[in-house]
Amino acid sequence: MQRVLVLGATGSIGTSTLDIIERHPTHYYAYALAANRSVDEMEQLCLRHRPVHAVMFDHDAAFALKTRLAGVVETQVHAGEAPMVELAKSAEVDTVMAAIVGFAGLSAALAAAQAGKRLLLANKEALVSAGQIFMSAVHEGGALLLPVDSEHNAMFQCLETDDLARPQMGRVEKILLTASGGPFRGKSRSELLDVTPDQACAHPNWSMGRKISVDSATLVNKGLELAEACWLFDRKPSEIEVVVHPQSIVHSLIRYVDGSVLAQLGQPDMRTPIAYSLSWPDRVDAGVDVLDLVKVGRLDFETPDLGAFPCLKLAYQAIELPGGMCAFSAANEIAVDAFLAHRIRFTDIDRVIETTLNTVDLAEPTELSEVKGLDYAAREAAHAVVAEIKR
Ligand code: NAD
Ligand code: MG
Repeated sequence: MQRVLVLGATGSIGTSTLDIIERHPTHYYAYALAANRSVDEMEQLCLRHRPVHAVMFDHDAAFALKTRLAGVVETQVHAGEAPMVELAKSAEVDTVMAAIVGFAGLSAALAAAQAGKRLLLANKEALVSAGQIFMSAVHEGGALLLPVDSEHNAMFQCLETDDLARPQMGRVEKILLTASGGPFRGKSRSELLDVTPDQACAHPNWSMGRKISVDSATLVNKGLELAEACWLFDRKPSEIEVVVHPQSIVHSLIRYVDGSVLAQLGQPDMRTPIAYSLSWPDRVDAGVDVLDLVKVGRLDFETPDLGAFPCLKLAYQAIELPGGMCAFSAANEIAVDAFLAHRIRFTDIDRVIETTLNTVDLAEPTELSEVKGLDYAAREAAHAVVAEIKR
């Protein structure tokens, strides 16, 4: 029985994780749940899964949850980030699903890595911002790091290996990272000027949280995933090629030196990679619809349009700069928040990122405090760009 801490339990990945856990009650137990401030959702999850602990980042939300659960379930309710970090290290926890959105998820994910947990990583921003520190923590802490992001989970499935630490990377010629192209694929730059947050969040294939949906529409998500793949599989950016595949059925491919190309296919349903990360090296039923390739009919592949979607080009540049992806990711979080709040246009997002990269003092962070310092400085710079755009 794996006792699981679900960080970001009320989110898209969190609820899909709990769906798998519920399907296999003899394999997994939702020992602890953590989220930001959605009291209604967390109350329902606690009633359903009866975790030993529930944490709300927001103190008022924690108080409200505690009041509602008193005398109903025995779940202990905590507030703030510190209990999440403690639970991530706790001997009572075997597995940590890191599915908080954004940089906010870094401390708890890092604690799980240091504590040597089975660490299911959905929170790509944590890895992208603190890559070196994160991977050192995984190796030194002896954690088992399993990628949840569908593309990286696909790569992991196609990298022939019995030994996670030593996949046959020497025989890999290229990693092909697939991208759906998002809801605006095929649109020109001028057609993107007036798109709304709701349009940006209406992904054609995947149902996801709003932040990653916007990232998918700008192709920032592919830039973050490029960096994520470099860290996870110890590759250089030049060894990874982004291929647009609008159907989102092929989740990524590995090209080997002998010409073989291995791909992982599946429905665009995150329960498949989540189930694989929970059950690896075994597999469990994920409740996912059967993939009917005849019904899908065709699988298309094309190159990304970096003119209409310059964020991916910016990511290729940022990844070569010391601390560049930390600043890129921080600036993007500010820009996405501003776009979702109707304060800037969709096409301003790349401007916020680019100006931030050009103004902030970049340096490779070597410890967590430096990552937090760079993240903070990039956020300040990005806020300034947003304020300038509004004027
Ligand atoms: P979401 O917005 O649906 O959920 C985010 C969760 O994080 C919520 O439970 C929220 O309460 C919690 N949260 C936010 N701030 C927090 C804080 N400070 N402390 C504690 N909890 C906090 O997001 P999502 O779509 O589930 O994405 C989660 C992560 O997984 C992101 O990093 C995303 O890039 C990654 N991811 C998501 C998908 C997907 O299909 N949704 C696919 C691949 C990777
Ligand atoms: Mg992905």
